[in-house]
Amino acid sequence: MELSLKLEMKSINKDLPVVVTGGSGYIASWIVKYLLEDGKKVRATVRSLKDTSKIQHLLDLKEKFKDNLTLFEADLMVEGSFDKSVEGAELVIHTASPFFVAGVKDAKKQLIDPALQGTRNVLETCNRISSVKRVVLTSSVAAIHGDNIDSLKVPNQTFTEEHWNTTSSLTHQPYAYSKTLAEKEAWEMQKKQSRWDLVVINPSFVMGPSLSKRLDGTSVEFMKNMLKGIFRTGVPDNKMGFVDVRDVAKAHILAGFTPNAKGRHITSAEVLPMLGIAKIIKEKFGNKYSVPTGVLPKPLVYLVGPFFGLSWGYTKNNIGQPMNLNNEYSKTDLSLTYRPLNETIIDHVNQMEGSGLL
Ligand code: NDP
Repeated sequence: MELSLKLEMKSINKDLPVVVTGGSGYIASWIVKYLLEDGKKVRATVRSLKDTSKIQHLLDLKEKFKDNLTLFEADLMVEGSFDKSVEGAELVIHTASPFFVAGVKDAKKQLIDPALQGTRNVLETCNRISSVKRVVLTSSVAAIHGDNIDSLKVPNQTFTEEHWNTTSSLTHQPYAYSKTLAEKEAWEMQKKQSRWDLVVINPSFVMGPSLSKRLDGTSVEFMKNMLKGIFRTGVPDNKMGFVDVRDVAKAHILAGFTPNAKGRHITSAEVLPMLGIAKIIKEKFGNKYSVPTGVLPKPLVYLVGPFFGLSWGYTKNNIGQPMNLNNEYSKTDLSLTYRPLNETIIDHVNQMEGSGLL
């Protein structure tokens, strides 16, 4: 028994470069930074080396960490485009995937194809390149459950890693559908070979300071809208899990380097109604920002929700519904610790202020 456990453990050579796909992204940038600060060599893939508005913060890291950071161009939709970056690496952290919920025009083209085909492309690269021993995939709690109302079907209305999203589709919550399809495909592809194992991180809604001044990410946009008073008349009574971007980044690194790490990991600090975030801001910053002080009645959410990307189906199945997430496994399997959410939110506001984004 002990022997078989040992055989299953994967030790990653800490001197070899770690590949981070979508390295310019909100979460990935922190993964890249922490790896570099820890003395690791990093290969970060970006869509375009010419688009400095998206990668300036990585160029700044390169200035500091020199040859320990190499940037590669790769696109999820271009077969083989990750090969060069993965050559000779044992650990691949695959974060790249489109993340947006509002303004979806063609869900298949904008969300499903890059998530699913992109995951296939990255994992086919891992199949081709014999140095790869472990893949860490950024999935989401969106692959664990779809609507909050689904929690009525699980014990204690609490989702665990055993659960899968069975209710999202191309037309209802397509982002969640894209994450579900991509994670399922990753497990299928992993099972067909034995050289590399798969460890999955399933974060809830990620908040906290960004390393870039980009405003196009969903997490950063949510905070900007909150601070700019978009929700001043009230927020939907919607429970969500929240987690600090720095803890999510650490979870990926722990997943990569913990030899016996296994399976999926709900990575979430706390479940709160959206109003809870507004309360943290109000408590610290007083009336500086026009944050909401109450919830919108559900009939009103049906009316105004579509302007914020909340369909009627979403409102029906999520507003006022219970939902809990069990994060115990991330603490035991990865030894992950979570920062308190008020620190996350306050640091996020301070970073946006400091970067002149408000
Ligand atoms: P970002 O939008 O900041 O990052 C997404 C990354 O994916 C960017 O680097 C983007 O590149 C890249 N990407 C998108 N499409 C392509 C493509 N066709 N080819 C190559 N790269 C592509 O979002 P996050 O950092 O928040 O998200 C990162 C991951 O975390 C995603 O997998 C997301 O689903 C997951 N996640 C995020 C949560 C959150 O609350 N933020 C919660 C749970 C999971 P570019 O910089 O060029 O746009």
